[in-house]
Amino acid sequence: MPNYISSNLGYPRIGESREWKQALEQYWNQTISKEDLLKQTESIRLNNLEKQKKHGIELIPIGDFSLYDHVLDTSAMFGVVPKRFAYKGGKVDLDTYFAIARGTKDAVASEITKWFNTNYHYIVPELQGVKPVLTSNRPLELYKEAKEKLGIDGKPVILGPITYLKLAKGYEDKDFGKLLQSFLPLYIQVLQELEKEGASWIQIDEPIFGTNLSEEILDFADQAYQEISESVSTLNILLQTYFGRLPEYERVVNLPVDGIGLDFVHGDAISLIKTHGFPSNKVLAAGVINGRNIWRADLDQCLQLLKSIDQLVAVNTIIIQPSTSLLHVPVTKKPETELDPVIKAGLSFADEKLEEITTITKGLQDGIETIREDINASTQSLHHLNQSKYRTNRQVQDRVNTLTADDADRSLPFEARIEFQKERLQLPLLPTTTIGSLPQTSLLKQIRKSYRKGEISAHEYENYIQESIEKWIKIQEELELDVLVHGEFERTDMVEYFGEKLNGFTVTQYGWVQSYGSRCVKPPLIVGDVSFNQPMTVKETLYAQSLTKKTVKGMLTGPTTILNWSFVPDNVTRSTVLNQIALALKHEIEALELSGIKIIQVDEPALREGLPLDRNQWKEYLDSAIYAFRLTNSSALADTQIHTHMCYSNFHDIFEAIDQLDADVISIETSRSHGQLLNTFKDNTYDKEIGLGVYDIHSPRIPSIHELKENIESALNIISANQFWINPDCGLKTRKEEETIAALRVMVEAAKEIREKLLLHK
Ligand code: GLN
Ligand code: ZN
Repeated sequence: MPNYISSNLGYPRIGESREWKQALEQYWNQTISKEDLLKQTESIRLNNLEKQKKHGIELIPIGDFSLYDHVLDTSAMFGVVPKRFAYKGGKVDLDTYFAIARGTKDAVASEITKWFNTNYHYIVPELQGVKPVLTSNRPLELYKEAKEKLGIDGKPVILGPITYLKLAKGYEDKDFGKLLQSFLPLYIQVLQELEKEGASWIQIDEPIFGTNLSEEILDFADQAYQEISESVSTLNILLQTYFGRLPEYERVVNLPVDGIGLDFVHGDAISLIKTHGFPSNKVLAAGVINGRNIWRADLDQCLQLLKSIDQLVAVNTIIIQPSTSLLHVPVTKKPETELDPVIKAGLSFADEKLEEITTITKGLQDGIETIREDINASTQSLHHLNQSKYRTNRQVQDRVNTLTADDADRSLPFEARIEFQKERLQLPLLPTTTIGSLPQTSLLKQIRKSYRKGEISAHEYENYIQESIEKWIKIQEELELDVLVHGEFERTDMVEYFGEKLNGFTVTQYGWVQSYGSRCVKPPLIVGDVSFNQPMTVKETLYAQSLTKKTVKGMLTGPTTILNWSFVPDNVTRSTVLNQIALALKHEIEALELSGIKIIQVDEPALREGLPLDRNQWKEYLDSAIYAFRLTNSSALADTQIHTHMCYSNFHDIFEAIDQLDADVISIETSRSHGQLLNTFKDNTYDKEIGLGVYDIHSPRIPSIHELKENIESALNIISANQFWINPDCGLKTRKEEETIAALRVMVEAAKEIREKLLLHK
């Protein structure tokens, strides 16, 4: 029998009541001092470690805690600071660290982007012109801290060199090897110092191995890990992968390290082991508890899985751990008081997952009988949940089971529909519009808070929403935008809003997860079969439409985005849930149509980020996303115009999928990478209508008319004016009112001038 050890890969930073967020924001607003920030965050960090110790985790991760982001921590450790921040070398101080993440008035922040297929964002390292140096041995400092203050002999965690470099920008592919060589000695120094201090394990995270790496990169990885391994003797190196199935499994498990961490939840590691085996001289770290979702583990099933693993491998040690860092789930379900007990009993957040890990480990070490009660409790609560009203909606299940390909088609093809739509909408050439949300003032947020606390009535709250709609319909008319929006004032979040209204969803009170920096999101929980309950957007849209003769566009969040930004049930397939959501949204579209709404936008900003790491799995993902999107819109009449919006510019490689969505109009976020996007259109033909974001809403800057005209004109060299819309590149919710009005004024003016010029030349 192998030796079993319990472990964790990473723990949420934010604290049980988001005290981490508060401390950071108070420091940024200068209401607490640097010393206070450091004191408060130290206490959160130590408390997190203490909790893991209390739960009985044997290998406690150290250094996963961060004041912003672990990729940025790695950059700071290696002195990777872009020139514009006037960094003079040495340990990167706190203010420079935050400046890279948040920008200053003199220097724009580094780009943030999604961490693999999650909704966590990291700060993209900029390697241009930097010479890496070890500015501080961060894992060592934190390792010592845990040892001295808590008596924890932890497992330092570090982002591996291959992943770090692949996520960075500012170099050419051909220089990868050279760059790697410049970072390796620094990694080695970190490891050697840890070894000297007595660390016995280090976890090196290399999630990049879930993606499709070239032969060349894999060879570099071989060499790098060879060098790393040779540089230490008593320090054990655990190479940790997660988030997906390893396309180069054999190469990865044979890297010269002491242990390999595999994802048995999303990585299908069991079938990889069945096919290719697992080296018997290595430690296997088995990620068997789902680190990406919030459902209680079926301990019985988990033990079965471990039993089959045990039969397949001949290793001395198996580490029991979550499939990924617990960063992606909320801290604890304990404070939730409003959940149905059936649901609550079926949940497991970070702390509960730690409990599951130690329970399983104990069962394996001391015999299954010692944890019999826990096994029964988990089986029972999951059984109750599966038998509950949430998961037994036969009608929805039957409807989804009998869907066919034809169900997702609109009655007419685009070429025919667009004629009807043009006839009905009577829009000018180059119509102008916005993406949906309009600025939410602090007063609005305050009023919403009071309403949620029960301090003001629903009536008062709705009145205020109506006032906001009215105010902004006037502003939009005055700006002479062509297609208006109601402004989404009633929504805090484009997914939570629908989650609160659809059957099959529930929301937690404290289920926060870090999204980027101090920003946390509270993803809704899809607890069972999803269905339409009552119209969700009709009231506000109709109210807006009643105030103007211009067309008001209805606004929904699409099925893939709702799914990707929620916690999903684990008893059914992803495409089943997608189709259930799609059928519910289809009802909403029908309701909007019935009320006379002529344009409906179905947003899919999360479609791209959810792509699996391994390209071989893209088709399956995209096919189900496309089907669900089309199903949502399938009953829209030919003269109802369906728009969609996506928040990224890099869609070269999914162009075909976007075309297949069959939306009449698509708007994409492009202002930061105009050239690249236009190239995509040069290489492909796109015959439907398209709006390119002509200015960047992520910055408070008001664009000049000159630059907007230039943007539009360069796009018109490639895309026909007859299919072109003019809009900002994303929703305006987070912008100030004055700057929004000023920017939109410039945009409409630019559109008018170009329109006139085009008409003159006709
Ligand atoms: N309609 C949404 C808005 O304007 C779209 C946001 C998004 O794409 N992230 O806010
Ligand atoms: Zn967007």
